[in-house]
Amino acid sequence: MITLFRRFLLAGGPLLIGVWFLLPAGLERNALYAVVGALSVAANAVAARHWRSWPWALFAAGQACAVAGDLLWLYYENIAHIDPFPSPADGFYLAEYPLLTLALLLLSRRHRTADDHLARLDSTMLVAGLALPYWVLLIAPALAGGDSTLGTLIGLGYPLGDVLLLAGVVRLLLVAGTRNTSFRLITLAVLTLLTADVTFTFAENTTLGTMAFLASYLFWGVGALVPSAGSIGDPAPRPQVLTRRRLVVLTGAVLLSPGILIVQLLAGLEPSTWAVALTSAALFVLVVTRMAGMVRRLEEQAGQLEIQARRLDELARTDTLTGLPNRRTLDAQIVRDMDSTTARRTPFPVAMLDLDHFKRYNDTHGHQTGDDLLAGAARSWSLLLRDGDTLARYGGEEFVLLMPGRTEEDAARLLDRLRIATPDLQTFSAGLAVWDGTEPPDVLMRRADLALYAAKEAGRGRVVRAAPARPAAHPLQ
Ligand code: GH3
Ligand code: MG
Ligand code: MG
Repeated sequence: MITLFRRFLLAGGPLLIGVWFLLPAGLERNALYAVVGALSVAANAVAARHWRSWPWALFAAGQACAVAGDLLWLYYENIAHIDPFPSPADGFYLAEYPLLTLALLLLSRRHRTADDHLARLDSTMLVAGLALPYWVLLIAPALAGGDSTLGTLIGLGYPLGDVLLLAGVVRLLLVAGTRNTSFRLITLAVLTLLTADVTFTFAENTTLGTMAFLASYLFWGVGALVPSAGSIGDPAPRPQVLTRRRLVVLTGAVLLSPGILIVQLLAGLEPSTWAVALTSAALFVLVVTRMAGMVRRLEEQAGQLEIQARRLDELARTDTLTGLPNRRTLDAQIVRDMDSTTARRTPFPVAMLDLDHFKRYNDTHGHQTGDDLLAGAARSWSLLLRDGDTLARYGGEEFVLLMPGRTEEDAARLLDRLRIATPDLQTFSAGLAVWDGTEPPDVLMRRADLALYAAKEAGRGRVVRAAPARPAAHPLQ
């Protein structure tokens, strides 16, 4: 049914507009005009019912008001022969704008994203910029016009309605949302309607303006009947950022107000000083607010990046299984501890630990339980350490313990306590070496490693102290 209706509108619509163009002014012509409007109302109502959608229902209602206005106009002009302006027809025409705008705003509400307040600022800026020419060209002259009060009010209503509708369509265009065929047709219909209004006000020959109204009805009707009408309000898959195109459009909108002043001055017209001053002031505030929003967003992004970088750094420095510092961290820490113990003139014992018969443990209980033992041992041992001690996973089932500031005796006692604290009745062997104050880290570690071998050789489950470092070969000694 919808497809059939759409095909009829696509084929018959242009035909009807053609016939309207050929008909002489009069009842038939005005009636045909109302028929095209009624077709669009029907199409929008069908879409509202089919998609159970408020925006389409409001579009239908808004256009129904316009068609009611058309019929009243026809009555006054062709049947009662009264001047139809001003008349109740204008009331219906004017009711169209808020209804259509409400529908557009409802559609743009569905597109909400995190950047919505920025889009709202952008659309306010654009509308503020575009409202100025409306004021200068349409609203101010209507205010100054010599019409009756009612005539003036109604004459004001149209450009104000246009600005309202403009705000609605600009808002919809600037929020992130799906850009499907239906969306494009509705946008085209609104822009055509706005153009028609302006043309109607300025052009002596109203044929062009009326044809634009007819085209707007047609776009609207087809837009309601294309399959994408159901998803016109769907959010966009990717939120929009400040694109170059948007920046150009916003710059244009901001420059409109000084532009208008310049044109007026060049053309020797009376400048709209107040309007330009107020609009410019509003635009300045909006631009600065927009900039503040951008800065805040950049700061947020920078903050998130910093958190991520810190997390990555932490990941790079810890061993995932045990949560202990890894070898990379150990290498840096050992140098720092050498520096601090040198400065404080305190001893610096270092131990290398290796779980005993861990392969057998793995083979007996399974690899997963082996993992649990490694993590559990790291946890239990860590509880016995004090600030300043560093326990690191060296690799496999080997650990290194840095104990800056402890004496060798103290370090050996600590290792005994750790050995007893090893979970699941397991043991480890350890080699303990005290830094001689000059040897490089790898030599110190090598001595601890040799002592560890000796502990294994001696039957495991014990701590062996390393032989003192070889005295440096000094020529004078
Ligand atoms: P020793 O008393 O001589 O040290 O004997 P061992 O079995 O502990 O030593 P060996 O070097 O023969 O075996 C070490 C085992 O540690 C072999 C390997 O499968 C196991 N291993 C190394 N890293 C991990 C790990 O991350 N998880 C588990 N479950 N096992 C590991
Ligand atoms: Mg081992
Ligand atoms: Mg080993």
